[in-house]
Amino acid sequence: MTHFSALSLLRHAVRRTKPWTSQWPDAQPKAEYDVVIVGAGGHGLGAAYYLAREHGITNVAVIDKGWLGGGNTGRNTTIIRSNYLYDESARLYDHAVDLWDGLAQELNYNVMFSKRGVMMLAHTVHDVQSFQRHVHSNRLNGVDNAWLTPQQAQEFCPPLDISRSARYPVLGAALQRRAGTARHDAVAWGYARAAAARGVDIIQNCPVTAIRRGADGAVTGVETARGVIRARKVAVSAAGHTSVVMDSAGLRLPLESFPLQALVSEPVKPVFPCVVMSNAVHAYISQSDKGELVIGSGTDQYTSYSQRGGLPLIEHTLASICEIFPLFTRMRMLRKWGGIVDVTPDRSPILGKTPVPGLYVNCGWGTGGFKATPGAAHLLAHTIARDAPHPINAPFTLDRFRTGRLIDEAAAAAVAH
Ligand SMILES: Cc1cc2nc3c(=O)[nH]c(=O)nc-3n(C[C@H](O)[C@H](O)[C@H](O)COP(=O)(O)OP(=O)(O)OC[C@H]3O[C@@H](n4cnc5c(N)ncnc54)[C@H](O)[C@@H]3O)c2cc1C
Repeated sequence: MTHFSALSLLRHAVRRTKPWTSQWPDAQPKAEYDVVIVGAGGHGLGAAYYLAREHGITNVAVIDKGWLGGGNTGRNTTIIRSNYLYDESARLYDHAVDLWDGLAQELNYNVMFSKRGVMMLAHTVHDVQSFQRHVHSNRLNGVDNAWLTPQQAQEFCPPLDISRSARYPVLGAALQRRAGTARHDAVAWGYARAAAARGVDIIQNCPVTAIRRGADGAVTGVETARGVIRARKVAVSAAGHTSVVMDSAGLRLPLESFPLQALVSEPVKPVFPCVVMSNAVHAYISQSDKGELVIGSGTDQYTSYSQRGGLPLIEHTLASICEIFPLFTRMRMLRKWGGIVDVTPDRSPILGKTPVPGLYVNCGWGTGGFKATPGAAHLLAHTIARDAPHPINAPFTLDRFRTGRLIDEAAAAAVAH
């Protein structure tokens, strides 16, 4: 595996004859693996990497119906934060932020993690009360989050309109300084490259059509468009399509799949220094390193598996962005797209074992799982390797929807990115 460094870049620039080697081989499926992971998003690829690196399990295949990173991993607006309300969530998301910190060095791949701060705007008295509750709860959990006055919010983000006559007046904001963004594709590519270098097979363009179970009920493998692959452990990490795949194993999951949209503007010079979210009006915005304004919308009101969304939501989002940041009124939008997000009733993920022996699930991240990528992957690998959850993901069971021990993050997830 080529080691990326300033020196290797220079060497390749000067010696034109030697091309860069491909970053991971296009593997063909073998008849059997120790572990099969369904879904080559950041979560699935990362789990394969941690299985190999931390647990010495390298006879692993990650299988995707399309190209790796082509699901929500490559479609999201890359917001990373951990200021969720409940203790369980704070531990889960903060574990991920801890891993984001050293990820580029660990993978030798520039994932461009930028701690530029995420600011959540309060437009109503209800928002103020809710965000201040989050700030207090986060501090008790050791998660950084601070309350800002409107003036302080504008100092942090100069394009913000804080005039009292604004359509959506800003009454204050919660700021997590350690939060920010990362380059989504690079996360998938970095994990894929590092996992493949440790012997993991990454199999693209190979839909998994069913999970196979033996007479004792345990998992025996998967059926795919390229034949049956045997495995005693199968993990499903297929985001919006998880419920369809799990249905073939006879498991019904409490998930609904919705389209979620985002869009980008034409590129402009650096003008927007942080990430701003407005849960009340369902809009959020940051600026990419290319200069495009990256804008996210809310989920469509109806369930669907089409990777595109309705125009009314985009119109609503842009109207809100123009009200909050009048500076952007004359910007042109370049393109928009959608992904399929898997939403649980309590807006928290399901990450752990299932009632089927040998079958594991990582889903329900809904509109907010990019931020969790390294953490979810790390915990999923632990759960598969030990056949038992890590203490951090132990509360995020499927069983909680039977026992009623829900982790209700609906307020944190009103927009949730
Ligand atoms: C528009 C948008 C904006 C978002 N913004 C944010 C944000 O700012 N911050 C944040 O934290 N989160 C955000 N999210 C959510 C985030 O993108 C996801 O929660 C996260 O990327 C999920 O990662 P994953 O690896 O589990 O899923 P994915 O990247 O979707 O990977 C799942 C893979 O499974 C594959 N698959 C599906 N069915 C099969 C099958 N039958 N056989 C084989 N493979 C299959 C798919 O092709 C896909 O590649 C956003 C999502 C969208 C759509």
